[in-house]
Amino acid sequence: MGRVDRALANHAVKIAGTRCRTCNGVFAGHADNCPSCGSSDVVTVDVINEIVELLVLSGAEMQFAEGLAELEQIGGVAALLRY
Ligand SMILES: [Zn+2]
Repeated sequence: MGRVDRALANHAVKIAGTRCRTCNGVFAGHADNCPSCGSSDVVTVDVINEIVELLVLSGAEMQFAEGLAELEQIGGVAALLRY
């Protein structure tokens, strides 16, 4: 996983996701087991909220963009990953 430096999210979009409490990974969609580490200790979350929290924790810049067509086309969230 890379670090997220900047992310754009459409504030109105809700994306169902899963967060793993073992490795803290966040994944789009529902899963009973963590796709990353296989743990069953996962919770259903709103991916946008999770990303915001992660960005705040990591000190990354977060910008909300309301109603950007480009974001709608790619599912409402975009992140620039730095490896
Ligand atoms: Zn995990």
